[in-house]
This record gives sequence, C-alpha cells and structure tokens, in this order.
Amino acid sequence: MTTIQSSAVRSTSAAATTATVKKGSKGAAVKELQTLLKQAGYYKSTLDGDFGPATDAALRKFQKDKKLAVDGVAGPKSWAALRAATAPAAPAPTTGTTATLKKGASGAAVKELQTLLKSKGYYTSTVDGSFGPATEAAVRGFQSDKKLTVDGVVGAKTWAALRATTTPPATQVLKKGSSGNAVKEVQLMLQKLGHYKLSLDGSFGPGTETAVKAFQKSKGLSQTGQVDANTLDKLRTAYNAANTGTPSTGTVPQVSDPISNQRIAQLHPKIRAKAAEFINRVERETGIKLRLASGFRSIAEQNALYAQGRTKPGSIVTNAKGGSSYHNYGLAIDVVEVRPNGSVNWNTNWSAIAKIGKEMGFEWGGDWTSIVDKPHFQMSFGKSTSQLLSMYNSGQRSGEYVNL
Ligand SMILES: [Zn+2]
Repeated sequence: MTTIQSSAVRSTSAAATTATVKKGSKGAAVKELQTLLKQAGYYKSTLDGDFGPATDAALRKFQKDKKLAVDGVAGPKSWAALRAATAPAAPAPTTGTTATLKKGASGAAVKELQTLLKSKGYYTSTVDGSFGPATEAAVRGFQSDKKLTVDGVVGAKTWAALRATTTPPATQVLKKGSSGNAVKEVQLMLQKLGHYKLSLDGSFGPGTETAVKAFQKSKGLSQTGQVDANTLDKLRTAYNAANTGTPSTGTVPQVSDPISNQRIAQLHPKIRAKAAEFINRVERETGIKLRLASGFRSIAEQNALYAQGRTKPGSIVTNAKGGSSYHNYGLAIDVVEVRPNGSVNWNTNWSAIAKIGKEMGFEWGGDWTSIVDKPHFQMSFGKSTSQLLSMYNSGQRSGEYVNL
C-alpha cells in the first residue's frame, strides 16, 4: 500500500516516510510533511524541516477536514490521507468506443458521449445514457462549432473531435511561423486596411506580426500579434466595410443580434440584405430570434481545416475541401434560435423558419435527402460549387466574392 501511494506522490522528497512527527520534530520527514501540507493547500510557510506552531496548525486543520483525530501528530493515518489528497487524479476510464450513435440510442456509449459533451460545456442535462433531444442538440452544437457535418449523428469524426485532448479551435490561430493561403488572405486584408506594406507572400514573419498588432490596437483588442478567431472576425468585418469594390445589394437592415450583424457583413454582398431580412421576418412572424451561427468561411480557411489531421497535426475536423461548400463563397448561412436567456436551441421550430426562408428564395438544408442539415440555408444563383470554384480560380471575383 505504501509503495503504491508513494509512487503517486508529487512530493519532491524521495523518501516516502511514515515516521511519526509532531511539534518539536526536525528533519527530512518534517520537510516532507510540510511539502505535502503545502500541496494540499494547508501550509503557507517555508519548508524548513522544523515542526513549529505553523506546521502544527496546518496539520490540525487538515486532520479536522479529513475527520481524523485532531492531535497535531502526523502518524500513519495522517500520512496516508495527505498522500491521497496530493496524488494526481487518475485519468477517467474510457471505453474508447467509435460506435455510431443517434437519437434513440442508449447504454454505456451514450453515457460516455454525454460525459464528453458535458466536459466541453455542450451538454448540461443528466448523464443518463439515453440519447434524447437534449443530447442531440448538444451534438449538433458541438458539430457546428467544430465545422463537422451538423447531422446530430455521432460517427467516427465526431468521436475523434470529442476525444481530442486539446480541443481543435474552430478557426486555426495564425501566428509567427505560420504560412500558406490563410496567411496570404490575412496579409491582403491588412494591406487594404493600411497596416501592411510588405509583399503578400503567405509567410507570417515579423512584418505581418507588427501589422496584426497595429490592427488589434486600432480595434481595442489585446495586442497578441496572433490571428485568433476573434481577430479574424474583426479583420473581415473591417475589410468588408472598407472594400468599396464589393458594394452590398441594396441597404442591409440591422438585426437584433450584434454578432449576427457582424457575420452578415461578411456574406456575399448579394445575399447580405436577404439574410438580414430573413432573420428579421422570422423574429417578427414567429417570435423566434435567430442567430447567424456560421456564414462565410474562406476557401483558404476551409483548406487549412481540411489539412488538419491529414497533412498537418491534429485530428480530422472536416471532410470538405475548400470550395466545395456554398459557405466558401459567402452564399450559405447556418442559423440557430437564441432563447431569451441566451442559450441556443438547435431543436427549434424548423418548419416555420424554413417556410419563411424558402419564400425568400433560400434553399433549405432540411430538404436534402442525403445529409439533412436543418440550420443551413443557401442561395446558389444557379451555380454549382464547382462552377463557383472555377470562377473563383479564374479571377472572376472581387476580393473573396465571385461576380454574380
Ligand atoms: Zn451550413
């Protein structure tokens, strides 16, 4: 027992003593006791190996909390309790399942799913092993954030994303040393905004870093010099506002949700007004307040996500290459209901929302037969994604937006 415990002790002392020590004792055993009491949060003083009043008080407090005899004497029981209190927590056991789960499923795998969703803040209900609407809503929320197919079904990709120890950010953080088209796009936007004067080489060096900091300063953001999701969001909004080459079609109405206004401003100019009007109509006619959860995702950004888990480190987060989604052209939106308390509801009244969206000319992902995607609405302008991609590649575009 002693050997097992001592191997788990985070004490710097090599000796796993059980020597009885009390006020007046001195030496290595006292030092170890003080170390353990400090790790457990009971002792604040120096590790001097001298059992004085401070050590005595700390030990008594610990004994009281652990419901041991409060005698100020460190005997076998106190040592064992101290080592248990300071041992690192064992990693949670996992069944490691990759079984495909969907609404109606139940059992241990569902329990594991709910636990993972809970640990990541997506599931707030009971871990009961029963895959009901709350679990499905949590899965959809997670899939949307991770840019996975939002189908509420937990397959290998969703399992992998859920188990990833370092949760892959929805948007890759670009920083000094990063390279590629995503960096080039950032340089272009910084250049148009007057912060970047060097070449658009797609290589994130000191010049790019300085420009990012200058932009962050101008927006009152903390000057990290790194392009995280928030900085990218602000950069796109500023770029779109400044980019007179891509005027919106008509006046874009404001919607009640500020985040949505920012995302609407990043959509293809031809659908900005429609997206805003759609959200406003749904709120007016059904009382459902929608948020634009996801809109424009640049081809470079999508390719960077696609590379993750394939040619770049990390786990696979998407199956879609850049250019294969209408989102990549700013022609698709994913919406979600925001309840009055601020929580989102992926199981909203989709048929009422879809009715209005379709009246306004949107195609609805809920009508698809292969992968049903209820939050998704798009406008194709009669073009397939491959047609749009060749237009994009041949330069029939203004900035990131193809000329429609
Ligand atoms: Zn979508």
